[in-house]
Amino acid sequence: MHYLDNAATTAVLPEAAEAAMHAMCTCFGNPSSLHQMGIDAAHLLEDSRKSVASALGCLPEETYFTSCGTESTNISLRGAAHLNRHQKGRIITTAIEHAATLNTCKQLAAEGYDVVFLQPDETGHITPAALEQALTGDTFLLSCQLANNEIGTVQPVAELGAMLKAKAPRALFHIDAVQGLARVRLTPKKWNCDLMSVSGHKIGAPKGIGALFVKKGLRLPPLMFGGGQERGMRPGTEALPNIAAFAKACDVRMAHFDEDFVHVQSLADYLRAQVAAQLPDAAFNGAGDIPHVVNLSLPGCKSEVLLHVLEGDGVYVSSGSACSKGKQSGVLKALGLPKARTDSALRVSFCPSNTTDDIDAFITAAQKGVTLFKR
Ligand code: PLP
Repeated sequence: MHYLDNAATTAVLPEAAEAAMHAMCTCFGNPSSLHQMGIDAAHLLEDSRKSVASALGCLPEETYFTSCGTESTNISLRGAAHLNRHQKGRIITTAIEHAATLNTCKQLAAEGYDVVFLQPDETGHITPAALEQALTGDTFLLSCQLANNEIGTVQPVAELGAMLKAKAPRALFHIDAVQGLARVRLTPKKWNCDLMSVSGHKIGAPKGIGALFVKKGLRLPPLMFGGGQERGMRPGTEALPNIAAFAKACDVRMAHFDEDFVHVQSLADYLRAQVAAQLPDAAFNGAGDIPHVVNLSLPGCKSEVLLHVLEGDGVYVSSGSACSKGKQSGVLKALGLPKARTDSALRVSFCPSNTTDDIDAFITAAQKGVTLFKR
């Protein structure tokens, strides 16, 4: 099996699974219980928060556990909107966000907020000049991703944050760093960032765990009400097995950050060289600033069909965002690519345990697919 769909989700790391097992079977108390088992669980919760906070580049008290990246983004965007519910005002986001942001923003537009979707340039980047043009005095929120899930472009978040705070000092800056965690060093404070979403299942933790950085001093209204866990921001008994696993995945990935990056970069370079040599009709899409995500088109080959040809040879890639399930990619469309390119796009995404064998298998299977299409 050659799993090259790590931007969709990753296998759980053995160390993370072990941490979850410990929290499920040994340290299974409720962190709110007053007895020793509760106290032990509360310690595990706070130790886990320290690990995740360190990966997020923030303080433990600025780190809130949620169920996923989507929830973190909803808390951020809906919370900021709620604070401005009377005067409404402008929300700025981009046309190439993940559905978690796009659909929340569309819903807020339906509720009367003035939402602007910035277009990227042809490389997939949002320029500070584009942001400057859209900024108005009543802008209260900018939401922008760090790394794109389909083409791997990294947005100039430091410049965007500086521009936002210069022109609209009271506006909040939310960053969707789901694809950036453990791939880009996260420095929310240097970026003028107030809110930042991440998700565990992209870095070797189980599905169902996310986190949200909320800058010290900022208080958002919660989406849910309950027992006051996570300082009232996200009530509900803490999912300690997932939280402990997420913390362990952060520890493992951050301990190997530099060597993992070098390895994944070498895989991306090898893939690009092999594609150029052996699939001459192929074209790469987007700048691919992080090596973990490589997007390429094989014009004439329909993505969904090719994907299943590859699957027949044990090679797993995707035709775009896992959430878009076969719809035409809005990200590739926003780059201005012709339909022949968007219809034939494949996303190959790596994790540190991939090897060149996986890429060789991809190339062989893709060559077979191209031959089938040419018949
Ligand atoms: N943002 C980006 C950039 C993503 O790639 C994803 C998941 O694919 C999400 C948000 C949503 O994260 P989750 O699956 O944890 O809800």
